[in-house]
Amino acid sequence: MNNTHGGKPHVLVLGGGSVGLTTAADLRKTLGTEVAITIVDSRPYMTYQPFLPEVGAGSIDPRNVLAPLRKILAGTKVVTGSVTKIRSAENVVVVDTEDDVQLEISYDYLVVGLGAVPRLLPIPGLAEAAIGFKWVEEAVAVRDRILANLAEAASTKDPKIRKRLLTFTFVGGGFAGGEAIAETEDMVRDALRYYPDLHASDIRFVLIDAAPFIFPELTEDQRAYVLNQLRERGIEVKLETFLNSVEDGVVKTSDGDEFETDLLVWNAGVKPSPILLEEGASDLPVITERGPLMGKVDTLADLRVNGADGPIDNVFAAGDCAAVPDLASGEGKFCPPNAQHAVRQGKRIADNIARSVQGRPLVDYYHKNLGTMATLGMYKGVGRLHVADKEFDLRGLPAWAAARAYHVYAMPTFGRKVAVVADWVTNMISRRDIIGIPEQSSPRAAFELAANTSSKPK
Ligand SMILES: Cc1cc2nc3c(=O)[nH]c(=O)nc-3n(C[C@H](O)[C@H](O)[C@H](O)COP(=O)(O)OP(=O)(O)OC[C@H]3O[C@@H](n4cnc5c(N)ncnc54)[C@H](O)[C@@H]3O)c2cc1C
Repeated sequence: MNNTHGGKPHVLVLGGGSVGLTTAADLRKTLGTEVAITIVDSRPYMTYQPFLPEVGAGSIDPRNVLAPLRKILAGTKVVTGSVTKIRSAENVVVVDTEDDVQLEISYDYLVVGLGAVPRLLPIPGLAEAAIGFKWVEEAVAVRDRILANLAEAASTKDPKIRKRLLTFTFVGGGFAGGEAIAETEDMVRDALRYYPDLHASDIRFVLIDAAPFIFPELTEDQRAYVLNQLRERGIEVKLETFLNSVEDGVVKTSDGDEFETDLLVWNAGVKPSPILLEEGASDLPVITERGPLMGKVDTLADLRVNGADGPIDNVFAAGDCAAVPDLASGEGKFCPPNAQHAVRQGKRIADNIARSVQGRPLVDYYHKNLGTMATLGMYKGVGRLHVADKEFDLRGLPAWAAARAYHVYAMPTFGRKVAVVADWVTNMISRRDIIGIPEQSSPRAAFELAANTSSKPK
């Protein structure tokens, strides 16, 4: 037992996302002050990622999709820093903080919920030109860029510049990418009413995907429905198409197309937190075979990590960074990376740690998928609900309403739930805001300009 916590077992949680926040909050509820808990994340808040497409579309204020760890997890030590080493053989984790201090944190129980990062491909120009859509700052930047471009395009007389400003390219048509393009296109359609100089036909939204379909989690019928709906709205969906390059603002695709774009959003897959695979950074066992599980922590059904000599008793992993057997789907299946599983796995880990502390047997993770739902803009959606062994297809308004209702239920904290609903009500009454502030990323630019011009003698 770790002696630095008054003889109490010390639970160290890596990552304050869906897994980490849920584990820490539930553990505190179950065991009260019987355990000491530390949570480490490079951000001081949890991001409710399913709401990011609505942030990108201006339907939800960015801060309202963030849950502040220190406020929610009273009594838990929150460390803001990057996990750089996991030495499970010694029960130690190394964390780099902002001031370049390396903290060595020892633990009795370790929970790994480090999530995933975008999976990039070696495409010329991609790393320099593209933006992801996984964090709130990215969703905000995408919205700001699109809205600012509308304002600039409406004021330029140069048709070439105008075309570039109004061409928005998204790569990857999974749930995150599909929702992102559908929601932002809907925002532009809404904003155009304030731009008499722009017409819907001036706007080009392009969705590129290497697969023969988008929204792979849906049934064939539903995929066809979404594809039709996006195409009817003027979104150009290029299937079985690769992005070949994006250099000097020019996109080249494998179907021979070539066009200028001012925005390229990359949503073509994620991979587990890279420190898990990095040489010398972590000694946790990870899946090394090529495929969707590569780099994920090898995890057993009770969410303990599967070591070379059997379960590592005090180390648990879950969420997007873990290969968790999906018992509800059958032998050999693994849980897909989504918040629905991550939150429930966090709860199972909290309960299993409580069981371990109390000397009771652990319980396997079992969750039957509740379904999948996506919003595609205001009053538009698609999804499948699983209720009592029956499946229901939802489309249009019912799917949109069900998706919003579910995510408000799942959004952490009562205050944030209320704030999200208040954003929606405000937008319904006074319409979505159409201001884009891309200068947010360089807030000192105006001051520096003033300093440069006023300090020069005339
Ligand atoms: C745009 C978008 C839409 C989505 N929509 C849905 C949806 O509709 N339904 C659904 O179920 N799922 C959805 N998902 C997926 C869902 O959000 C994730 O599966 C879920 O958040 C995974 O939880 P996690 O705890 O594993 O990872 P995360 O929630 O990503 O948390 C990981 C945490 O670890 C931290 N971290 C990572 N590395 C380090 C490090 N080295 N040091 C310190 N901290 C670190 C990160 O800062 C982060 O806070 C969506 C995802 C995106 C991006």
